[in-house]
Amino acid sequence: MLLDGKKYATLFKEEVKEAVEVYKEKYAQTPQLAVILVGEDPASQIYVRNKERACQALGIESKTIFLPADTSAEDLKDCILLLNADEKVNGILLQLPLPTNLKKQEKEFLKLIAPEKDVDGFHPENMGKLVLGQDTMVPCTPQGCIAILKEANISIAGKHVVIVGRSNIVGKPLAFLFLQENATVTICHSHTENLATFTKMADILVAAVGKPAFIKADMVKEGAVVLDVGINRLPNKKLMGDVEVAVRDKASYITPVPGGIGPLTIAMLMRNTLLAARRQRQETNAQSTDV
Ligand code: NDP
Repeated sequence: MLLDGKKYATLFKEEVKEAVEVYKEKYAQTPQLAVILVGEDPASQIYVRNKERACQALGIESKTIFLPADTSAEDLKDCILLLNADEKVNGILLQLPLPTNLKKQEKEFLKLIAPEKDVDGFHPENMGKLVLGQDTMVPCTPQGCIAILKEANISIAGKHVVIVGRSNIVGKPLAFLFLQENATVTICHSHTENLATFTKMADILVAAVGKPAFIKADMVKEGAVVLDVGINRLPNKKLMGDVEVAVRDKASYITPVPGGIGPLTIAMLMRNTLLAARRQRQETNAQSTDV
């Protein structure tokens, strides 16, 4: 059964839209997301445009700061600090990847974003809280993975979750979210020996590798739930996930690409932006899930 990410994302965004209305009435102000885009990477330009559109549709104000590819580290830092200090800005997102000249300092820039405005959840303080099981700003893609399973009433507690990929933006934070949901978690990566031994044990298999059709049908247990996080652009410009199409015949539930985890990621960004705004209004108990 296909888990329709678009459908669930629409549902989540509707909830955020309603909550944004409540926020506006309560505080006579509009939540605002600021996105910094350095350079002209075509994929990043599309992602940023999609984020602007989503904000617009939900009544969230958005502004994009376009910086040239040859922006100096100092100028980028100044830009982040200005946004940190701007009371109207509730959420700050630094679009990755950065151009080559800035890439090495990526961690420094992410650390400079005020944790309470870090809607990507990549700041070490937010990531640390996630590991400790404390309330925090949860990275959008992992948050989307958990949200769709819960909304589809797919049980997580006690299940064996196998995540292929250990990046800081997907694999690692997702592993801790699953632990919080009382799953048993295995993380695999490029050094894992006999990968299929692990993937075949998964009740819930997550592919976040970045290689088209990497997970083959014979690597998946009959009836497993499969979340395909991968977004790979093929030479013919089409998008393909990390999981081959034949896996659909084996999985009990599977997210398609496109139209799976991708739309959920944007919906969770909208949730996080509203959450950041509410917390900055001293709604200290606000959770992303209660929008
Ligand atoms: P990274 O390149 O940062 O991480 C890839 C991970 O896959 C690494 O941990 C790597 O292992 C592992 N890996 C690579 N080759 C193998 C292999 N042969 N066997 C086992 N593991 C392997 O990618 P991201 O996490 O950033 O993204 C993963 C995919 O998800 C990409 O396609 C990306 O476009 C997509 N994505 C989708 C999003 C969405 O909104 N749907 C959001 C973010 C990402 P090692 O650590 O050892 O190198």
